[in-house]
Amino acid sequence: MPADAAAHDIAGLLAALPGIEASTDRALVRQKSRDFFWYSPILKAQLNAKSGEAVLRPRDEAEVLRILTEARARRIPVTARGGGTGNYGQCVPLAGGIVLDMTAMAAPLSLEGGVAEAEPGIKLIDLDLWARERGWELRLWPSTKRTATLGGFVGGGGAGVGGLAHGTMRERGNLHSVRVATMQDPPAVLDLAGDAAAPVNRTYGTTGILTRIRLPLTPAQDWRDVAIAFPDYPSAGRFALAFAHADGIPKKMGGIFDAILPPYFRALAPVVPEGHSLALVMVAPSALIALRELAADHGGRIVAEQDTVAAERDPDATPFYEYCWNHTTLQVLKQDKGVTYLQCRFPFEDPLRAMEAVRTRFAGEVWMHAECNRFGGRIALTALPVIRWKDEARLGEIMAAFEAEGIAIANPHTVTIEDGSAYRRVEGDQLGFKTMADPLGLLNPGKMRSFAP
Ligand code: FAD
Repeated sequence: MPADAAAHDIAGLLAALPGIEASTDRALVRQKSRDFFWYSPILKAQLNAKSGEAVLRPRDEAEVLRILTEARARRIPVTARGGGTGNYGQCVPLAGGIVLDMTAMAAPLSLEGGVAEAEPGIKLIDLDLWARERGWELRLWPSTKRTATLGGFVGGGGAGVGGLAHGTMRERGNLHSVRVATMQDPPAVLDLAGDAAAPVNRTYGTTGILTRIRLPLTPAQDWRDVAIAFPDYPSAGRFALAFAHADGIPKKMGGIFDAILPPYFRALAPVVPEGHSLALVMVAPSALIALRELAADHGGRIVAEQDTVAAERDPDATPFYEYCWNHTTLQVLKQDKGVTYLQCRFPFEDPLRAMEAVRTRFAGEVWMHAECNRFGGRIALTALPVIRWKDEARLGEIMAAFEAEGIAIANPHTVTIEDGSAYRRVEGDQLGFKTMADPLGLLNPGKMRSFAP
């Protein structure tokens, strides 16, 4: 049992749940109690020793309900887990208890009228492939599409590839409806559609266990990954803004990278000239001529191109989105453990001025990387800059300087929804819903700071 866990009756719980896959193997439980929190030296120190006490792997909604019922009866915390690719210890149990591994509930269920229904443990790549065979594709996915689950994306992610066309999961209409199992007395399954589903959208599994998710899709299309080199970062920035506004170019993604970053991108490093900044975009094949012309207007030159869908299906290939979003940080961390990152959104007005101000002020310390996105229908530049780690005080100074430039920060160095979400918070009465759905505070305790059981 982890040092700070209360004395939970795990043996009694498991005895009451015959037929449900479970393990108390310490190494396995510890492995399933971790995510990518180690990107943050601050969270690494806080969370490294945290662990659940057992892993349970339900096969269907009925098993989820049985588990919640027995856990509630014994006051045992329950923390849901999908692919475990979250970044802020989202699926790390802070108070012991059980890790609810959702990966056995991974079936696609139906696709009607452009809305897919699936179980939460399905990998996003598998759901997208299944939808593509039927003429549709996901509107949005994280750069971890090949390893993350649908439930984890709704429960803890919500932004990424596709954001340039569809915004984030917090935009009304990107989440159709869900079925969610609660920790009420007794635990129940609720059907929530539209705004009613907002209290379970990006709440880290604190407001219920998603057992089915319905997502509106978009018609499937071929995509091309294109890499464009620019002589300097400001040119790449001007290109990115023009690209994001180019309504004649069907697009799914647009990211830009300061010259220090491309050497960390294995397949691209040889083709990006030294000292050049880089843009990585996903466009429809019909837009390649327009893209080449737009790039040339800003001094850019196409240096690599590939079929996105072929690349993501090939385990030996790297779709360009795996250099984008939070994969940029990972590509650097693979070679240099002395860095961390931030998540931020530049002001809507004149974002390039604010970006250039912090980029030049912290030259060598902040390695700029930005992604084009939409928020509330407006084009925005968001960023996940890689930061040379010194200590917490210096990180605080950098964050304060960003904020002084009008740059919003969703702090990735904290475990609570409230402290970490900022502009990524989904609208809705999450606290009120939590009080109804989990009055004892047993679902992923410690992650919703405003809640007191
Ligand atoms: P997990 O990490 O397993 O869980 C995430 C949260 O959801 C946890 O709080 C968990 O309790 C909860 N949860 C899981 N399943 C359920 C369920 N069935 N019911 C209720 N709650 C549940 N995120 C983005 O949004 N966009 C990105 O582009 C992106 N890029 C990333 C790149 C890298 C390299 C890494 C390491 C992370 C990145 N992330 C990104 C974060 C993460 O990959 C995504 O949020 C992903 O969707 C999480 O899915 P998962 O299955 O791994 O979830």
